Amino acid sequence: MPDVREIASRIDAHLEGQRDALVALSHRIHEHPETRFEEVQASAWLCELLEQHGFEVERGVGGLPTAFRARLDGRPGGPTVALLCEYDALPGLGHACGHNLIATMGAGAAIALAPVMRDLDGSLLVIGTPAEEGGGGKIILLEAGVFDGVDAALMIHPYHLNQAGMAALASVKLEVVYTGTPAHAAMAPFEGRNALDAVRLAFAGIDAMRQQVRDDVRMHAIVSDGGAAPNIIPERAAMTCVARSADAQHLHESLVPRLQGVFQGAALMTGTTVEVANASHPYDEIRRNPALEAAFERHARRRQRTLAPFDPSSGAGSTDMGNLSQALPGLHGMLAIDDAALPHTAAFASAARSERGDQTLVDGAGVLAGVALELFSDAGFLQEVRSGFAAAER
Ligand SMILES: [Zn+2]
Repeated sequence: MPDVREIASRIDAHLEGQRDALVALSHRIHEHPETRFEEVQASAWLCELLEQHGFEVERGVGGLPTAFRARLDGRPGGPTVALLCEYDALPGLGHACGHNLIATMGAGAAIALAPVMRDLDGSLLVIGTPAEEGGGGKIILLEAGVFDGVDAALMIHPYHLNQAGMAALASVKLEVVYTGTPAHAAMAPFEGRNALDAVRLAFAGIDAMRQQVRDDVRMHAIVSDGGAAPNIIPERAAMTCVARSADAQHLHESLVPRLQGVFQGAALMTGTTVEVANASHPYDEIRRNPALEAAFERHARRRQRTLAPFDPSSGAGSTDMGNLSQALPGLHGMLAIDDAALPHTAAFASAARSERGDQTLVDGAGVLAGVALELFSDAGFLQEVRSGFAAAER
């Protein structure tokens, strides 16, 4: 049996030794924001770093050019643990979700563990997962088999609280396109059928639904095509609508059919036709893993982090980690980089490259490495993670 305490202190020392390099990489990614599926530089920099630390790196896995899978084998047997790196930015806002920190926490944990893997049973993977912001990169990689054989997948997201888990809603993004009949808006409007009117009525229909939906439901939309000119009755108009709920079953079996009714109703009222299509992969809610969350909490406390109680009704977004956590045991911990700023704001973007953000990078890497070490060295803990996953099956 390896001396786990001794290994843990070696991991901490390696991490401390890599601090400057990790912070520099985090800042470099922050200064070169790349949006979903275009994270060419971030992906390349992470792959180079992992190769320097002895990982064997496959680039472009799962058919995604900016995805990667890096591998370092320990002794035979034991679990396969994957650390996840997200690195996409938001259009116009840069790294306002702090994915530069997610990337460097995952890679930092990996390079801190690298020198001790020869003393542990199992394999360490780092999986670069592009396009969390609406592209569903993890879902594409999951379907392509990139996660085959993985026993647990671990990541940490920056936030304004320290929390063992994230309240993530199942979500679906629908592109709704109406087709009417164009006409001169002054000379012969009576010959037209107005596709934009259908969009307006669909918005009104969604608003009418609001009072008759569960508290966990969120519905939001934009007009993605409002016609070409005011003097032409719009032949085409479109909206992008996101609907979310605490569970995918309610979302797909109740909410989406009701929305379809609203979209059809607006078409009927205006004499137009409607087509509804998924604009990206639907995201599932996160299946929480009590054993992994308890381990997160142990290691976060070790780094002087006070944990906020988990409140499923507050601050829920959506993530493609939801789908992954339904397929295998997953951890989506949250560590604070600010007391107030919320993701997807300019204030959060600056927190993601602040001194506090840098410290969170190191803390997060240490927490991830600590949880991974438990998985490699404690068969009872691994069993608890597995049975907790099975018990939470919906
Ligand atoms: Zn994010």
